[in-house]
Amino acid sequence: MGTGQKEITRLLLLLSLIALLGAIVGLFYPIMLLAMSALLAYQLFQVIRFENWIRTGGRKKYPKTSGIWEDIYYHIYRIKKDDKKRKKKLGKMIDLFRKSTEALPDAAVVLGKNDEIEWSNKMANQVLGLQNSDKGQRIPNLIRFPEFVRYLKSGDFNEAITLNSPVDKHIILTVRIVAYGEGLRLLLAQDVTQLKKMELMRKDFVANVSHELRTPLTVLKGYLETLQDMDEHTSVLLSESLTQMQAQTERMQYLVDDLLLLTRLETQQVKNECVDVPHLLQQICLEGDTLPQQANRIQLRIESPAHIIGEEHELRSAFTNLLGNALKYSPTEASVLVRWYQTAQAFVFEVQDYGEGIAEADLPRITERFYRCEVKRERKISGTGLGLAIVKHVLMRHEGKLNIQSEVGKGSCFTCHFPLKRQCN
Ligand code: ADP
Repeated sequence: MGTGQKEITRLLLLLSLIALLGAIVGLFYPIMLLAMSALLAYQLFQVIRFENWIRTGGRKKYPKTSGIWEDIYYHIYRIKKDDKKRKKKLGKMIDLFRKSTEALPDAAVVLGKNDEIEWSNKMANQVLGLQNSDKGQRIPNLIRFPEFVRYLKSGDFNEAITLNSPVDKHIILTVRIVAYGEGLRLLLAQDVTQLKKMELMRKDFVANVSHELRTPLTVLKGYLETLQDMDEHTSVLLSESLTQMQAQTERMQYLVDDLLLLTRLETQQVKNECVDVPHLLQQICLEGDTLPQQANRIQLRIESPAHIIGEEHELRSAFTNLLGNALKYSPTEASVLVRWYQTAQAFVFEVQDYGEGIAEADLPRITERFYRCEVKRERKISGTGLGLAIVKHVLMRHEGKLNIQSEVGKGSCFTCHFPLKRQCN
């Protein structure tokens, strides 16, 4: 039998007994009234005692009682005890989380719906200059770099941005925002000063070496040309050696030129000229036509008169590289189609060839520096492996995107997409 049922049975039994007693002594109503009042007073006393106990937080051991009241006290006491245990466990977990985030080498800041700081770790205080008292403040009021404010407002957090630390301008940070939960965002800032320094050293080294190699190469090439002119073909070995040396110095010169161009693309600001792309393409295709064995291969279709903002010299390099590759990696009898057209989203430069194509596994890597696909060919095709890296850089500097579609044995289609807002005529 449950406690409730027991309580009812006990009460009924007691009332029956009192009723019987009342009937025997001939005072049924007065005795019953007295009994009911006593019962009411008892329950009132219990309620007041309970209210007293619960008001003080139910922390003290509950008062001695019996029946259903004892059960009520016990259940509440148990719930509170479980709650306390759970809170303790949660507290430990939060403590552990705090300790691990404090130990993070990166700055971490939790932002609320209105970009207010909800929480930040020690590193955030060090590199972003946030104080514990900044909690609740909007972060754009504290980190005021326009680039950062724009990034925060944009809502597009696919890519990180690079900033100088507001505390020390020599510290370079990459800042990334990760959205999570409802309107919450985690801001992560990583100190990349050393990485940037090393990158700069690498750039300087490549630029210096390439620059220093230029003069000796020109001298070497000059002497080789003179020696070839003087060669009377008395020795096959000598003639072949001179031809080989000439080819290799030429290759080295292309490499040095490409490396210098890449360094320029990485370090110099892009000039904003209005480039007459249709005219530029006519020139490039004309030059392509005059290359040995390339006559009448190129079909040029100018379908848009658009000029775009950019640097002519850089665009020429990118387009020439793509056209050069199309001619190089397809048979001399196959045609190459060059187009300049407009879609709803972009201006597009397209080069379509019907050559050897590119394997799917190579596609993600062909824009890497020095990456050349390993293809068994009858003839050796020379190259530096830097052409597509140059194309990628030029496009990046022109807000452009490179798209490659290719099928082995069928051909490749390279497209460069430029935003419509770049039109300038
Ligand atoms: P390079 O042509 O000097 O080797 P690139 O960076 O221009 O260097 O190209 C990288 C590699 O991508 C090439 O070695 C070649 O294997 C492949 N590739 C580029 N363009 C084409 C093309 N149109 N058709 C087939 N393969 C290509």
